[in-house]
Amino acid sequence: MAMRGLMHVSKLLPATARVRVSSFWSGVETGPPDAIFGLVEAHKKDPRPNKVSLAIGAYRDDQGKPWVLPTVRKAEQRIVDKNLDKEYAGIMGYESFCKEAYKLAFGEDDNFKNNSYVTTQTVSGTGALRLAGMFLNKFYPEAKTIYLPNPSWPNHNPVFKQSGLEVKSYRHCNFQNMTFDAAGCYDDLRSIPNKSMVLFHACAHNPTGIDLSLDHWAEVSKICKEKNHLVFVDMAYQGFATGDLEKDSAGLRLLAKDGHKLVLCQSFSKNMGLYGERCGAMTFLTESESEAKAVESQIKIIIRPLYSNPPITGARIATEILTSPDLYSEWLDELKAMAGRIFEMRGKLQQGLINEGSTRDWSFIHTQIGMFCYSGMNQEQVKRLQDEYGIYMTKDGRISMVSLSSNNIGYVAKSMHEVTK
Ligand code: PMP
Repeated sequence: MAMRGLMHVSKLLPATARVRVSSFWSGVETGPPDAIFGLVEAHKKDPRPNKVSLAIGAYRDDQGKPWVLPTVRKAEQRIVDKNLDKEYAGIMGYESFCKEAYKLAFGEDDNFKNNSYVTTQTVSGTGALRLAGMFLNKFYPEAKTIYLPNPSWPNHNPVFKQSGLEVKSYRHCNFQNMTFDAAGCYDDLRSIPNKSMVLFHACAHNPTGIDLSLDHWAEVSKICKEKNHLVFVDMAYQGFATGDLEKDSAGLRLLAKDGHKLVLCQSFSKNMGLYGERCGAMTFLTESESEAKAVESQIKIIIRPLYSNPPITGARIATEILTSPDLYSEWLDELKAMAGRIFEMRGKLQQGLINEGSTRDWSFIHTQIGMFCYSGMNQEQVKRLQDEYGIYMTKDGRISMVSLSSNNIGYVAKSMHEVTK
């Protein structure tokens, strides 16, 4: 009865009033789908049985299945056996996790043990970047611009823009031969204003797979010192590039040894396969303990109204692995296995293209490193791969190497040859 009464009243309302009541969001325009997650959706809907998704950077085994690391399964079991509660972590997350994350990044060298610093647990790598962006926007008035390598992970741009920073770039990739544009990078670092904020990928540069050698890092460090730039390191792939934690953090450690009071963002998505657990960390190296305390207090003030405190499960898993000698040594082998499989796929893709008769120089597939291959294919070729062959990758021609397997690599090589000959 009441319902009927309501309908009756709404029919009596003038048309304009009715429209106003039911259209809060009429001014909202449909936005574009996310460059990567949009492709995942499109791939899901594609009915072709031989379709291949090479868009997202999430590790797959050689059967194309997501791989939960055995150490993660064991750590989970140990955590269950401890019968822990589900209380909130502190605003900065778990102290033990933060300590371990710092140690993992910087090693146990005395140089670093005695540093003053502040580390906070974050909502994975993306959350760390956003938090750092917000902190810098508030407390680094010297520069409102952050310089990213060109190209960079597509999400860097909106992360920093939405943190209130301006985003510009410096040269990273020599697009002619797909190598590091060292001269261009050095020039740009010298010509941007002093005290600029400059972001570097610690290893496994996304999307190019083109990393800096130690000599490059030394030069970059020198220039950034001369120019007094604030160095910002995004390390989303430690251990995932070469399979060796030390090698993958060598650039970061060089910068820290040179005295840069840098900002570091870490992710455990890839190296522990904790993608959906959202496990990461952000560290500021500081001049003194009192500075660290002040920075920490302000980080808390940003986090508290944002998400209050971070999720606990991923950090518990990571801490269990990092502090249990048996799990830790098993994890080192898992890292080697993941990096090794990617390396193998690189060789097979290059060989597959040669076998198809491609006369292009694909040698860079093997020299690039990490999760992605920056194939050099243009947008039209990428579109043809999607439309004609059901192979999905980002518009910039970036191939997620972890999605290649013995089952699909022949088909992918053949299709790539078809659109590039
Ligand atoms: N930085 C870079 C360069 C990345 O490639 C990624 C993941 N694609 C991230 C940060 C953040 O990843 P997550 O939020 O999953 O930790």
